[in-house]
Amino acid sequence: MKIKEITAFPIRITREDEAEGKDRPPVIDFGDYFVDQESFTSIYSKHHETTVIKIETDTGIIGWGEAQSPVSPRTTQVIIEDLVRPLIIGRDPFDIEAIWTRNFGAMRERGHPTGFYIDAIGGTDIALWDIVGKATGKPVHKLAGGRYRDRVALYAGMGGTEPEKVADLAEEHVGYGYNALKLHLLLDADGVAEIASAVRNRVGGDIRLMCDVHMRHSVPSAIKLGRALEKLDFTWLESPLVPDDIPGAVALSNALNMAVAIGEWSRTRYEMREAFERRAYDIVMHDIARTGITEGHRIGTIADTYNIPVAPHVGGGGILSVAATVEYSASCSNFMIMEHSHHANEFKNAITAEHYAPDNGYFEVTDKPGLGIEIDQSLVEKYVIS
Ligand SMILES: [Mg+2]
Repeated sequence: MKIKEITAFPIRITREDEAEGKDRPPVIDFGDYFVDQESFTSIYSKHHETTVIKIETDTGIIGWGEAQSPVSPRTTQVIIEDLVRPLIIGRDPFDIEAIWTRNFGAMRERGHPTGFYIDAIGGTDIALWDIVGKATGKPVHKLAGGRYRDRVALYAGMGGTEPEKVADLAEEHVGYGYNALKLHLLLDADGVAEIASAVRNRVGGDIRLMCDVHMRHSVPSAIKLGRALEKLDFTWLESPLVPDDIPGAVALSNALNMAVAIGEWSRTRYEMREAFERRAYDIVMHDIARTGITEGHRIGTIADTYNIPVAPHVGGGGILSVAATVEYSASCSNFMIMEHSHHANEFKNAITAEHYAPDNGYFEVTDKPGLGIEIDQSLVEKYVIS
């Protein structure tokens, strides 16, 4: 079998729902995108944006993948067309690891060991796994390590700035069947603790709670916050510090009893080596639509070597990111729990031929070949950014 063509579709699905709490600190508005007015944190799209990847083979088997691109998916498209395409046309899709290594090496010396370039080769890797699964009639998880579990546990995310409104959302999600919730809270330590307390009071002691503070804290502020969250029996404090503050993450992890979860911004084992060696992770949360399945499994194996659980990030990833993460999680020995967005899943499904959704807080692991999901190209094309 040979790879005949690769195509990237940068898509934007307009989002108008307010269901997960769009209430947040003041922003500077750029039209489709916005940034926080007072802190130097991520640029966000008001919509769902990502890059869908299609690989065709000379046998007629088609594989689909996704390179997570929450902003500027056209950047990823150009990388696929200009750099990935010439390197993979004519190759056997079963040479998955060899293709990843060829792609990774092509820009390594020039200083592109992460970011959009690795997203592009990670999304390509997912599409190749889909092809190999379809060619063998097996689900990806059967080929990428085997089935460790029959269903994948999810936690649902939500945010806001007002304690009772966030507590309302938490209660709503418990009603959908989730027994684990994550709060995205963009406030100072006291503001976060106040909302966390309101949510714990509302949902009771049996629901697992986590808190993501999106790199807004210094070490002392994160220690103060972590101590407050420990009293509320939160499972983890996520992304409290800027990504490169590895010494700070080590100090924080040592200071707190609760787990510190980081790693969504990292795409390769090379990039994560120092954090593993210095034990900066209590829980590692790499994103499969950034790492790909091949490198995602390598990172998971290193995490296992250090006795660290894996809680894959999905964030703004689309439905192919969700499906790839379910397949990865089913075949990951040290999997803990997977990120999910209950209301966002509905519009992520806008490109699927068959609905792909969880049941009562879990994705059932299927026996369908490949990623177990069918994409309708005519629907993908409807959302392409021109
Ligand atoms: Mg996060």
